[in-house]
Amino acid sequence: MKPMRSRETEPAGPFTLPALPWAKGALEPVISARTIDLHHGKHHRTYVEKLNELAAGTELEQLTLHEVVRRTHADPERIEVFNNAGQALNHAFYWESLAPKATKPAEEMRRLLDRDLGGYEAFLAEFAREAAGRFGSGWAWLVVSGGGVLEILTTSNADTPVTRGLTPLLTVDVWEHAYYLDYQNRRDEHLKAVVEKLLNWEFAAENLARA
Ligand code: MN
Repeated sequence: MKPMRSRETEPAGPFTLPALPWAKGALEPVISARTIDLHHGKHHRTYVEKLNELAAGTELEQLTLHEVVRRTHADPERIEVFNNAGQALNHAFYWESLAPKATKPAEEMRRLLDRDLGGYEAFLAEFAREAAGRFGSGWAWLVVSGGGVLEILTTSNADTPVTRGLTPLLTVDVWEHAYYLDYQNRRDEHLKAVVEKLLNWEFAAENLARA
């Protein structure tokens, strides 16, 4: 059985690079195999390796990735640990947030999108708009709050909603390395295509069910 990346079941360190849930070319033409290869095999791998270097011989090795993120996010002396742990976590979540075959939100998700975000079509436009509008590096998220309300938010650099008591449902990477080879400076074009064609609503539903 495939292990989920929930904080309940994930293993303690040392931390590993998760395998991609699809073939490297599976997201073409929206995201090229070359971009995925570099993004997963170089960027994501480096965050994991750097985290393991920093955690070696410390109590952090006994923690799960979620626990490392929570333990270090407000500690300025451990900003480097947090940055690498947050990026390791966010990227693992990002790969799962994308699906080669277009999926659509099922009934329960549609109901919540209608209630909280003006409906599915309005969500797509607003999510792409906020992602493209994030200044600098970061992430765009669909989250569910403690009160069960869907919200769109963006975070900077390695920051993640899991330190704010929010449950992420989907994320999109807005760092330049996510699109620059394929789209150069056309970030909005990349994000519109990802949001409309690749979001994995089955993964979002799994996360909602666990929230
Ligand atoms: Mn990235």
